[in-house]
Amino acid sequence: MTVVRIRGRALPDGEPVDLRSDGDRWATGPAPGAETVIEGWLLPGLVDAHTHPGIAEGNGAPFDTDLLRADLNRHLDAGVTAVRVPGLPEDPPSWFGTDPALPRGWWAGRWITQHGQYFDGWARRLDHAQMAEAAAEQARRSGWVKVVADWVHEGNAIPVDVLTAMVEAVHAAGGRIAVHSMHESGCAAAVEAGVDSLEHGMGLDPRLLARMAAQGTALTPTLTMVQAPAEDIRAHAPHGAPRDWYLQGADAHPELVVRAVEAGVTLLAGTDSRPHGRIADEIHSLVRAGVRPHDALAAASWAARSWLGLPGLVPGAPADAVVYDTDPRTDLSVLDRPAAVVLRGAVVRTAVPR
Ligand SMILES: [Zn+2]
Repeated sequence: MTVVRIRGRALPDGEPVDLRSDGDRWATGPAPGAETVIEGWLLPGLVDAHTHPGIAEGNGAPFDTDLLRADLNRHLDAGVTAVRVPGLPEDPPSWFGTDPALPRGWWAGRWITQHGQYFDGWARRLDHAQMAEAAAEQARRSGWVKVVADWVHEGNAIPVDVLTAMVEAVHAAGGRIAVHSMHESGCAAAVEAGVDSLEHGMGLDPRLLARMAAQGTALTPTLTMVQAPAEDIRAHAPHGAPRDWYLQGADAHPELVVRAVEAGVTLLAGTDSRPHGRIADEIHSLVRAGVRPHDALAAASWAARSWLGLPGLVPGAPADAVVYDTDPRTDLSVLDRPAAVVLRGAVVRTAVPR
């Protein structure tokens, strides 16, 4: 295996880094043989922390392993070397997350939700009394559990005592739990229950951000996805509770994200929907909201990797990197054209000359 050397300034610190691959790990010192040298601005790979690869367009659509492979390749094109998949209609094949030519991956099984909520065909709709055991069983199988705590404008969130029992059961099984909420009540219950990550978080009372930071609950705002339908709803949706619910939450979402960063909450960049490989869109959305480019990139790279247990560009770390010609903090447009992507010590993408 050819040794890969990466040289340049590395984020988050901007300090000079000179690392070479030793198998699938970074190391220092001279290479034993031939090496491929890549120079530029170095990040330890991007992360899409909320994506559902392998599901065709359409709510309730089936899972397709050929599409999974294609979608993961689009992520890799974008410099994404790790994905977290919070919910799939069925278990992915065993190569998911371990195939050396595709991003690292974490996945939850089917979405756990209440009767009458979420999309037909995707969810396990359970009684409250069944939820903790079902969550523990999922955690033992894949390490991650996804719960849909509330649904559309009616709210009717899973009660906090049920969510708390799920969190305790999942943690006892050594897993982690991600909770979808787009309602003030569901968000509050999720924070009080101490979930590991709050997905979307639309309608979250900003006064809960300090508690999230203190207890280590991350926020994946999926800002691009939340904002996408807002203008159409504003222009065309009939006046009433569903419209009011969505626009109130979506309009407040950018400022919520900024306040989350200010409060010290771990922010995770996630795209949620098709097309895949658009993590740059979410970084742009975060910056448009008022998040500093440095912090928006953290949410899509080193902070997200650290949260998933992957160290940055240091000796001994998994040998992933995405390389840019210039500092992406001063020119976010370079996100659309990584100079190179390194995964597990191998160069898996190089720039197409323009
Ligand atoms: Zn999702």
